[in-house]
Amino acid sequence: MKTNSLCPECLRRIEADVVEENGRVIMGKSCPEHGSFKDIYWSDSQLYRRFMKFNGNWTAPENPITKKKRGCPYDCGICSEHKSQTILANIDVTNRCNQHCPICFANSDEQSYLYEPSKEQIYGMMLTLRNEKPAPCPAVQFSGGEPTVREDLPELIRMAKELGFIQVQIATNGIRLANSVEYVKKLKEAGLNTVYLQFDGLTKTPYIHARGYNALPRKLVAIENCRAAGLNSVTLVPTLVKGINDHQIGSMIDFCVKNRDVVRSLNVQPVSFTGRIDKSELEKRRITIPDFLALVEEQTDGAIAKEDFYPIPCVGSISHFIEAWKGKVTPFPSCHPACGAATFVFINNGRLIPLTRFIDLEGILELTEESAEEIRKNGKLGKVSAITKFSKKFLSFVDYKAMPKSSTIPKLVINIFKKGSRQALAKLFENTLFLGCMHFQDLYNFDCDRVSRCVIHYATPDGRVIPFCTYNTIHRREVEKKFARPLQTLKVA
Ligand code: SF4
Ligand code: SF4
Repeated sequence: MKTNSLCPECLRRIEADVVEENGRVIMGKSCPEHGSFKDIYWSDSQLYRRFMKFNGNWTAPENPITKKKRGCPYDCGICSEHKSQTILANIDVTNRCNQHCPICFANSDEQSYLYEPSKEQIYGMMLTLRNEKPAPCPAVQFSGGEPTVREDLPELIRMAKELGFIQVQIATNGIRLANSVEYVKKLKEAGLNTVYLQFDGLTKTPYIHARGYNALPRKLVAIENCRAAGLNSVTLVPTLVKGINDHQIGSMIDFCVKNRDVVRSLNVQPVSFTGRIDKSELEKRRITIPDFLALVEEQTDGAIAKEDFYPIPCVGSISHFIEAWKGKVTPFPSCHPACGAATFVFINNGRLIPLTRFIDLEGILELTEESAEEIRKNGKLGKVSAITKFSKKFLSFVDYKAMPKSSTIPKLVINIFKKGSRQALAKLFENTLFLGCMHFQDLYNFDCDRVSRCVIHYATPDGRVIPFCTYNTIHRREVEKKFARPLQTLKVA
């Protein structure tokens, strides 16, 4: 397959080939000035083929912000060529941080300037996101730097809620949350829905490598404080580095199970490389989504297997169904199938049972697409009969013998279709553990086909909305410099 990528040295756009080679998928590219580059794109070609079956459709933004000039990825954005809507928007509220991580992709706290948009600028960015068409962006995440170093964070959360964001999240190292349960309560009262907690494992070594000190005790207190404050939606976010914490996935899953009253999901991010890296180091450290899935299988003794995972955009037919049912556009994560994988796991007396073991997901997705078509064809009158038929047929895709007795999953899933609401989806999250993985791109595996489908974006003070992987590889520096202020001595909480 041909795509466009970037030269890691001069950032010019160059053609790239994505090809199967000895059971793996490899990206090869060549710059006229800086020579050839080769990187593992996906480490399992069979799995890649299965995932690419879900390379379906998307709903493009109707009101792009920038025009096509130099072509992808330089025109962000969102430019008129972009294919997917924003599903989750990041807003970096500061580049200050109270940690100095050697692997920070935002390179926070190492800069010689302060990047800290004003409250008014942040309001403007959120307004842009809520004005997106055909559907407003549903979720915002305050990030950085470390967002909790801003004293007005509760106010920003309140503002986001007032603007109608259904999900308001913070991406945090947890230090401030560990310092004060009262602070966590304040964030919850302001309307915070979810804490994305940087969490690299259950021993001190990964923290010393990735964060420069043993941050584990603080993470545990942060989780305790969320529990005490009734903020019961924590997502653990490990950056996965080969040879550092890739042996701890099983124990992190166990930890989630034990703390599932407050920890709802584990969202793993294989490390992406910032700056240049030599070939042997790249080969040694690169870890891709199939590697992660294989590790899950190995470290859970097969309780969760590779086959239990599906690419993120597979949920497209569900949103088509809800769209037809409710008569309004429902944005869905129509990213490229190579961007991420996920599964839901039911926990039965401490035993892990992926939903795919008792629900025929592919059968249901087909049924969903057919039912959406039927509703679209028959209009209002067809709705009731279509949903009745759908509910009946749905049950034929459930293997009741394999399903744990205590499970109410089929009912919860049918409710997602019928209600099409976030609350219905939240109920599924409450009753399961969500395991996800998104591999953010770097200059070595950068794929324009992927970024042009990106659903995770950054809003910036100049009114742009920029896909996450292009922001962190090529646009961040320029945006931050444009709004930089001289560094002052600021008190860090
Ligand atoms: S990533 Fe999207 S917004 Fe950016 S240039 Fe490519 S198509 Fe346009
Ligand atoms: S953030 Fe990167 S990995 Fe995630 S959807 Fe966007 S392009 Fe894909």
